[in-house]
Amino acid sequence: MVASITIDLQKLTENADKMVSMCAARGVEVLGVTKLVCGMPQVAQAMLEGGVTQLGDSRLENIQRLQRNGVDCPIMLLRIPALSEVNEIVQTINVSLNSELLTITALSNAALRHKRVHDIIIMIELGDRREGVNPEDFIALCDQVAILAGVRIVGIGTNLGCLGGVLPSSKNLGRLVDCAESFEKRYHRKLRYISGGNSSSLGLLMAGQLPGGINHLRIGASLLLGRNALQDAPLPGMHTDVFRLQSEVIEIKKKPSMPEGEIGLDAFGSKPVFENKGMQTRYIVSLGRLDVNPAELRATEHGATIIGASSDHLVLDMTHAQSCQVGGQLEFDMGYPAVLQAMISPYVKKRILVNRSQIDCSDAMPFQEVTQLLSSKRNHAFY
Ligand SMILES: *Cc1c(COP(=O)(O)O)cnc(C)c1O
Repeated sequence: MVASITIDLQKLTENADKMVSMCAARGVEVLGVTKLVCGMPQVAQAMLEGGVTQLGDSRLENIQRLQRNGVDCPIMLLRIPALSEVNEIVQTINVSLNSELLTITALSNAALRHKRVHDIIIMIELGDRREGVNPEDFIALCDQVAILAGVRIVGIGTNLGCLGGVLPSSKNLGRLVDCAESFEKRYHRKLRYISGGNSSSLGLLMAGQLPGGINHLRIGASLLLGRNALQDAPLPGMHTDVFRLQSEVIEIKKKPSMPEGEIGLDAFGSKPVFENKGMQTRYIVSLGRLDVNPAELRATEHGATIIGASSDHLVLDMTHAQSCQVGGQLEFDMGYPAVLQAMISPYVKKRILVNRSQIDCSDAMPFQEVTQLLSSKRNHAFY
């Protein structure tokens, strides 16, 4: 394939190691989130090697992919379960995040049918207005769940900084701790997890302002991209280039920077605007909007700038950059949405970098996969 995403597993393991120690120093356990990479088992393994002890994903398919490939740590289902999935969930998953009594009741019944108890974390809505029960309804929900024999509440959690972009604060996360305390007082038992959110809570943790009692964070973006999700700044000592996109140069020509002719709409229905920069050395690489949104890429070559892209052609101004030849490769830095889109694009080849050598992965997605068994946690031989 002419476009590929390379994942440097060594760098990811080092990020995980840093993240785990940073959080452990504040009594916080890290759950590594794999949804950005569609539950790619090699990526999960690299997180575990860095000291992450649990994984989580929002999709059942991704979790099953991890399990099929021998990833044997506890794995949480992060998206509130669908009623239609409960049977499969109780058979495959240790812990799920929940907020609906109807679904929890169905999970309980399904678990009893399979002679087991399913562990749940109750999600509490603290302002971001995505999933979760309102704090004032929390205890009432727990009372109703407490009589169900097939489920056990093992923790509470919240999610901020996603739909509403609400910043985690000592105030909203303080309310999570209040909920935990009222639970523990009412039921005379400790909660195993007080899960204070995702990567967006790291800023508070690093500032030493994460309310005491929070012992768990679910981290995807910051672990994988080495960045503080809120300020988009690199995290100290972490790699921000775990993911790189490569693409082949298919045309090199000198062209005027201004289009010629009457201007209508571009391929995507908007009116393009160009600045007159005279003649340019323009490269076309074999990448387009089918693979990734060009606005989320940055060419790593000094002086290279992206002019635009249609479905299959990405055009760069290379006038002030070092040149290569047709057939050469250009590399791009990627943000969260770019990685996400490239991971799900069947046109982008997935490659992993292990001990500085690149290895192609035959598959991209949970559905297309040729199953390969991991022989053991620390064994890379199967690559
Ligand atoms: C995606 C997700 C996370 C991880 O979010 P990041 O921003 O990638 O750290 C955590 N919890 C839930 C419920 C999620 O859906």
